[in-house]
Amino acid sequence: MTGSHDEERRKALTPEQHRVLREGGTEAPGSGALLHNKKPGTYKCADCGAALFASDTKYDSGSGWPSFTAPAGAEAVEEISDRTHGMVRTEVRCAKCEGHLGHVFPDGPGPEGQRYCINSASLRFVPKAEMVAQGYGDYLDQVEGI
Ligand code: FE
Repeated sequence: MTGSHDEERRKALTPEQHRVLREGGTEAPGSGALLHNKKPGTYKCADCGAALFASDTKYDSGSGWPSFTAPAGAEAVEEISDRTHGMVRTEVRCAKCEGHLGHVFPDGPGPEGQRYCINSASLRFVPKAEMVAQGYGDYLDQVEGI
């Protein structure tokens, strides 16, 4: 990756998006713009645009961060052991651009028992009605409702 490309990409991110995605930061609980979003659609990486999570898997975990039971696809995210802050956790990154998304915990409600605890700042929401036009038509089967 060239320095100039990196600069261009960073200009498109807000300081908070940059802090979370590129510096591994965490937004304050309860503060994220997408925490209470219940609309049908897909959640893409705020940096590279890769499809990461779908509305069908989003649920209210009570944690203060957007929570999902599964990623949009098996290859969508990378899971990496994180031993910072005196804890052993599993960090979740965008598989395409390696941007930091959040962490995954084994206390979720779905069949896999996973809770993907994701910063709003790492995501951008694509409403269902705009998914085909924006190139996310392949993910429509993960999005119930209108
Ligand atoms: Fe990405």
